[in-house]
Amino acid sequence: MVEYGAGMSKLAFEATSGIAVLRLDNPPVNSLGHELRALLFDGLERAAADDGIEAVVVIGSGKGFSGGADIREFGTPKASAQPNLLALIRAIEQSGKPVIAAIDGICMGGGLELALACHYRVGVPGARIALPEVKLGLLPGAGGTQRLPRLIGVEAALNMIVSGAPVASENLRVSGLFDAFSDGDLLAASVDFARMVVAERRPLKRVRDLSIVMPNAEAYFQFARNSVKAAAGRYPAPLACVEAVAAAVQQPFDAGLKRERELFMSLMLSPESAALRHVFQAERAASHILDVPPDTPIREIRRVGVIGAGTMGGGIAMTLINAGLPVWLLETSQEALDRGLATIRRNYQGALRKGTLTEASLEKRLSLITPILDYAPLRDADLIIEAVFESTQVKKQVFERLDAVVKPGAILASNTSALNLDAIAQFTQRPEDVIGLHFFSPANVMRLLEVVRGAKTARDVLATAMELAKRIGKIAVVAGVCDGFIGNRMVARYGVAAHDMIMAGALPQQVDGALQDFGMAMGPFRMSDLAGLDIGWASRKRRAEEFPTRDFSNVADKLCEAGRFGQKTAAGWYRYEAGSRDPIPDPQVTELIDKYRAQKGITPRQVTNEEIVERCVYALINEGARIIEDGIAQRSSDVDLVYLNGYGFPAYRGGPMFYADQIGLADVARGLRRIAATPGADTSFWTPASLLTSLAQEGKTFSGYKGSAS
Ligand code: NAD
Repeated sequence: MVEYGAGMSKLAFEATSGIAVLRLDNPPVNSLGHELRALLFDGLERAAADDGIEAVVVIGSGKGFSGGADIREFGTPKASAQPNLLALIRAIEQSGKPVIAAIDGICMGGGLELALACHYRVGVPGARIALPEVKLGLLPGAGGTQRLPRLIGVEAALNMIVSGAPVASENLRVSGLFDAFSDGDLLAASVDFARMVVAERRPLKRVRDLSIVMPNAEAYFQFARNSVKAAAGRYPAPLACVEAVAAAVQQPFDAGLKRERELFMSLMLSPESAALRHVFQAERAASHILDVPPDTPIREIRRVGVIGAGTMGGGIAMTLINAGLPVWLLETSQEALDRGLATIRRNYQGALRKGTLTEASLEKRLSLITPILDYAPLRDADLIIEAVFESTQVKKQVFERLDAVVKPGAILASNTSALNLDAIAQFTQRPEDVIGLHFFSPANVMRLLEVVRGAKTARDVLATAMELAKRIGKIAVVAGVCDGFIGNRMVARYGVAAHDMIMAGALPQQVDGALQDFGMAMGPFRMSDLAGLDIGWASRKRRAEEFPTRDFSNVADKLCEAGRFGQKTAAGWYRYEAGSRDPIPDPQVTELIDKYRAQKGITPRQVTNEEIVERCVYALINEGARIIEDGIAQRSSDVDLVYLNGYGFPAYRGGPMFYADQIGLADVARGLRRIAATPGADTSFWTPASLLTSLAQEGKTFSGYKGSAS
């Protein structure tokens, strides 16, 4: 064997009796960044120039063949620097010597497109094959939409391209994707295959030369367009995928490739794709904590205690056992424990009925929970998450007990929504080990986790919490201590703006309708009906006692006084038929609102949907800006993630802060000043945050802000 490759190179070039093996070595997923593309290009040229080489095998390493484009290059000149992916693909396809892709592990996106340009493909079981570009609002732009249908058939290819979902290589074993499939060693099988191709003098098989025969293509694509359109909602990419595949069938290869390119470029410029790419990057950025280096040692979490088996404690316990972590679940009485466990079992039975969980794995998961009534076993826990009543007194009792029992170095977490985490930390002798883990309800479903950093929280505790979040499948965002952290602080402002619109003359159904048309998963009044109006009522009463000079009154008080607490009483801002969650506008609510306005001396006016959206969304943006300015969030994309994942903001708008960037911050600031200047407006509420004003003046964006906290 002759070795040419340099030691630390991202590509190893080895030659063995006439076969060159180009091994991609760019961890973690052999993404096709500029350096690797250039090395691969050189490797191909070297193989072409070497008379001793008769065929080339391209193989991956580590996690598999290749995960595709390098996301770190997105939006930088490196992404398209020569040789770009298209040039590399052309070089492979035009190679005079056979090029064989040896596919295992991850083979996705640009990685699969590269493999499709090879003359032959050898596979093994366990590989995951996908063209996931649609998930970023794009389509495979390097020939994937043209070549894949030629190998696996139009319908199978279209399904993969429109869904972006990975397919197991076993399921493609007999498709045209693979020219050979081995259950043994991939490299050996691929080199053997290459030798056979050479020995048999097989003609080079170029996928572009394969023809697609599809009778009734027109009818098929019409059907595909209709069904994809219905499912795609406001996203243009899935339909563009159908158009690109239709071009593969209905046009010659080069014309189809050109069409794919045009569609790709137009998607690249679409606001939906820009938003989805922003979200993708935001998720990656969120785990990076500015003053916590990535190599910060983390504490090992093997066993967790959960205090309280109510709504949140039960959901948190499920999340942990789903990830295989054993849990002690502590309650105050056997009855409460039994109730909590019964709810957990009931929740799993739903998954059992849907067929997403088997009886055996259900029992296995439940066996990971040890119900307890006293603290003693918790001395062995590495992390304890408290989810008891939202009362400072109860939390104090719990944290004092924990402090007395748990081993040094254990992490003490609180799921409090509104209490001061720093005060909770002071109930212990080890405030540096205390952190907030603010899960959202239902905790086993919602992906968002606000990781609340107290004034004294140790860096390794923070790093451990972020790592745990990954392990349990959550999107974690770091938040500082303030009333409501990031999400609830913003939603409070949104609620005030929505209530203002009711006061001005709108009805709940108009406000909800306008915001749902904007893309919110649920309007604010439907959301309050779901959450229960009594919670806000109690908190307003508490606040009114605390601040007797301020007015906390709200139409919702009138609803509550009338026994309308939302869905749980079948009446709130709407009424509900028995057994249904569909909100029905209720004339009684209209009457209560009319009366309330009259009491306050307000003459209702016509309110437009545009005004509703502008006010509610601008209120979110303005509070988001203050949250960044106060250092509560590290970056604007963290604020976006919270609102997208916890509050139903539409992903195709990228989150409130990204949306503001798209509108232009100068316009947003002008809009806020205009609202602030309307008669009766609360000027302190509507005056643009100073960060917003200054960025607007400098012509900058939130996304580009790397200010004091970032
Ligand atoms: P819940 O009333 O459903 O459950 C609280 C449970 O804690 C009850 O089962 C109770 O018996 C138990 N408990 C009370 N005192 C205890 C003690 N000293 N030791 C052990 N167990 C005790 O309440 P919840 O909705 O699950 O909320 C729990 C916490 O999570 C609160 O701090 C709340 O603010 C927060 N939170 C709630 C939500 C939500 O949507 N419900 C969302 C995020 C955070």
